[in-house]
Amino acid sequence: MKRPLDSKLPHVGTTIFTVMSQMAAECGAINLSQGFPDYDGPSALKEAVKQHIDRGFNQYPPMAGILPLREAVAEKVLSCYGAKVSPETEVTITPGATEAIYCAVTAVVRPGDEVIMFDPAYDCYEPAVTLAGGVPVRLPLLPPGYRIDWQRVTDAITPRTRMIMVNSPHNPTGTVMEAEDLRTLEVLAERHDLVVCADEVYEHLIFDGRQHESVLRYPALAARSFAISSFGKTYHVTGWKTGYCVAPPALTAELRRVHQFVTFVGITPIQWGLAEFMRSHPEHLQTLPAFYQHKRDLFVAAIAGSRFRTLPSAGTYFQLADYSAISDLPDREFVAWLTRSVGVAAIPVSVFYEQPPDARYVRFCFCKNDDTLRQAAAKLAVL
Ligand code: PMP
Ligand code: GLN
Repeated sequence: MKRPLDSKLPHVGTTIFTVMSQMAAECGAINLSQGFPDYDGPSALKEAVKQHIDRGFNQYPPMAGILPLREAVAEKVLSCYGAKVSPETEVTITPGATEAIYCAVTAVVRPGDEVIMFDPAYDCYEPAVTLAGGVPVRLPLLPPGYRIDWQRVTDAITPRTRMIMVNSPHNPTGTVMEAEDLRTLEVLAERHDLVVCADEVYEHLIFDGRQHESVLRYPALAARSFAISSFGKTYHVTGWKTGYCVAPPALTAELRRVHQFVTFVGITPIQWGLAEFMRSHPEHLQTLPAFYQHKRDLFVAAIAGSRFRTLPSAGTYFQLADYSAISDLPDREFVAWLTRSVGVAAIPVSVFYEQPPDARYVRFCFCKNDDTLRQAAAKLAVL
């Protein structure tokens, strides 16, 4: 090549999830880093996918996803959030929430547009904005509550602000947005004509009797939002990389213009299997809060005797822990030591920040069999 290859993402390395899972595998450590279950999705769901493969559902599906799955999503958002959406014009099936987020950002953000997001933030937001030529404006969520400081948001809005990205339940902190947050977001988004990208992939993983405050519950907010979710989290099948986006027709049309040239479609038999399972097992969703709350409580209780100080996790399958009483190492070094010497892998929380605060937190993932959690906790409990 004659011209030097200037990276468009010079500050981005391999994602921490890949790095830590690889380190865990090399060391034979228990992997509580990357978020994926060590158990399978429901047997009936796997059977439904297998049957559709055998029956020949193996060619391209429609660009927006198969209609029965879009219908199942529309029924679900009606029953969960009271939102009536059209499966034809407002629901799009995507190969994972990641693709939906990328397409939503790419469809809306133009060079120079500012996009407000919150630190710590899931790692795919900033690169999507940067690749679109947008300017990420990262505002801090402050521990211990990691709440949004709405005054700070108001102050950060300029005539160039085009989008605001929110994530609830929140990765990595496990905090959730309250009704009041959504009402404030609604007012600000309307007042400043902002598009909202709402990452709700953990919508069904919410604890202690809370209800998930989806943007879809708030009609004026839903009218300017991409609401994005992931079947991977909800059905314990992260490797199937299937998600969806609900958005009003005008936003959906723009999202699909991009989606059709990024991946075109998601995988056919997976979509048929999910549609069948959602129709035949609607009760699955109701089992999730207790299922994960049990795992959270088991893990937190099992490391309670250690010097880790756990923060409350109200949703997701992640648990933050302050390790400052155990070590002065920076978090990346601490997790490397933890993986190699203690035999448990975790995620360093600083990777979710543009400018990490001077704090010592790691993220443990508790979507693991109870035995796995007990084994990991036994190793951590002595620290
Ligand atoms: N957003 C958040 C907050 C996540 O934790 C994840 C996890 N993978 C995703 C988006 C991406 O979901 P998917 O695997 O469906 O692309
Ligand atoms: N979302 C998962 C996590 O936070 C990881 C997904 C990925 O590896 N890209 O652990």
